[in-house]
Amino acid sequence: MYSTMQDVPLLVSRILEHGRKVHATSTVTTWTGEAEPHRRTFAEVGDRAAQLAHALRDELGVRPDDRVATLMWNNAEHVEAYFAIPSMGSILHTLNLRLPVEQLVFIVNHAADRVVIANGSLLPLLAPLLPHLPTVEHVVVSGPGDRSALDGLDVRVHDYEELLAGRATGYAWPELDERQAAAMCYTSGTTGDPKGVVYSHRSIYLHSMQVNMTESMGLTDADTTLVVVPQFHVNAWGLPHATFMTGINMLMPDRFLQPGPLAEMIVAERPTHAAAVPTIWQGLLAELAARPRDISCMKNVTIGGSACPPSLMEAYDKLGVRVCHAWGMTETSPLGTMAHPPHGLSGEEEWPYRITQGRFPAGVEGRLIGPGGDELPWDGESAGELEVRGTWIAGAYYGGADGEPLRPEDKFSADGWLKTGDVGVISADGFLTLTDRAKDVIKSGGEWISSVELENALMAHPEVAEAAVVAVPDDKWGERPLATVVLKEGATADYAALREFLGLSVAKWQLPERWALVPAVPKTSVGKFDKKVIRRQYADGELEVTKLA
Ligand code: ADP
Repeated sequence: MYSTMQDVPLLVSRILEHGRKVHATSTVTTWTGEAEPHRRTFAEVGDRAAQLAHALRDELGVRPDDRVATLMWNNAEHVEAYFAIPSMGSILHTLNLRLPVEQLVFIVNHAADRVVIANGSLLPLLAPLLPHLPTVEHVVVSGPGDRSALDGLDVRVHDYEELLAGRATGYAWPELDERQAAAMCYTSGTTGDPKGVVYSHRSIYLHSMQVNMTESMGLTDADTTLVVVPQFHVNAWGLPHATFMTGINMLMPDRFLQPGPLAEMIVAERPTHAAAVPTIWQGLLAELAARPRDISCMKNVTIGGSACPPSLMEAYDKLGVRVCHAWGMTETSPLGTMAHPPHGLSGEEEWPYRITQGRFPAGVEGRLIGPGGDELPWDGESAGELEVRGTWIAGAYYGGADGEPLRPEDKFSADGWLKTGDVGVISADGFLTLTDRAKDVIKSGGEWISSVELENALMAHPEVAEAAVVAVPDDKWGERPLATVVLKEGATADYAALREFLGLSVAKWQLPERWALVPAVPKTSVGKFDKKVIRRQYADGELEVTKLA
């Protein structure tokens, strides 16, 4: 029996048109580093998205399915590109401006991007790559920056504002198949070449609805969200789309991502929410310790992308800012879980739930697979690899224009679930706790040591600014933990004291023997601890390691 309901495709253009009409006066504010930030309403963003689409089609000849890349900070023009490109039936490809250049070249060629929309300040990065990007015919430049870097290159160069000027502010968006590609984002290639995840209109639409649910970020048009997570890092966690659904105002930091300017924009613009990876929050905390400011306007912040140390949550609690921990991946759009405690708990009772990665929403199913391939119970004890499936979870990687979708066995199960590479447990009441990434777990004498648990315990020490723990080879145990530590200014703790402190919360056999002080923990292109680099530094003898007896 068929339903009698309308079948309206879930399209990005519908999110755009809804936002520009129903939430016309909501704003996208872009920080400029000058006295006045730049403000644009959703209605204006909608008009300009239509103008951009006309320009791309009529002036640049962009066709359905063509890939249009962005090399941009978080700003209003990037939001316009977010909506214009998929709505016209082409594919938005966000480029991670912090990737090593070889990977950027690989990604643009693999996606066969025809156009790159770039912020002027990023031309020094883009220009030297262009001779290696044969598919790129056009570069559209937005915002300030020296454009002479593009002189003499074999591309047509356009000015973003000139392209838009005078064009129609309406566009008859095509009625696409909702399963069609809308946007793509490559994983950051921690192991091997980056892999392309291609989001559909449907997956973006459903994911955005979930982002807006109370059990996820749950914001309204009374809120302003500070979108620190880059628009090239998994669609800024879905915020640009989610905001247009419910009229949430956006505060975009553009290139001003250092702790000082972030604190300034919080004080000036009073956002009620923000989203970023833990390292951003660590940096802001240090800034606020040096120059205290009131940031309690931010009632809620979403922290994810890597494990949020409980000590960080406590520090923000004290500033009147409530942290909600979230887990996700490029392959999961990225919303996978969020850690809102169950209803009815308060104070200390909430804590054990808040430090988990959280619960799955209805659109995502999770299961744990043990070392023998069996599905494990949700008992809070049985640890296995997390696999997920759902309406906004990748089922394959992009195989290139003529290639078949790629489903490598180490990333997808035979029955189509995504293998996350994350190891953890799930409690009987459905809360996921990740103990490690499979490749970061320390395998010591047949037992597993969680690098994340050691890091969290170390970062709770008042004199530790940051700590990363990796597995290093050990003759007796196979692997043992190496603790690399960044001390706060003026700290006096020595290794023995740090180890003693760790011993208060961690079993004795897990305590690291090897220690190294480092000026900073190396970070990946999206601000996560880069353990691959630490392991290499150790192997190459670049770290000054002390071995405690
Ligand atoms: P990359 O794999 O390059 O880091 P992603 O941004 O897709 O790119 O990273 C996804 C991974 O980040 C997850 O598989 C997980 O290991 C880690 N991660 C994300 N959020 C959390 C979290 N809240 N706690 C622990 N790990 C997390």
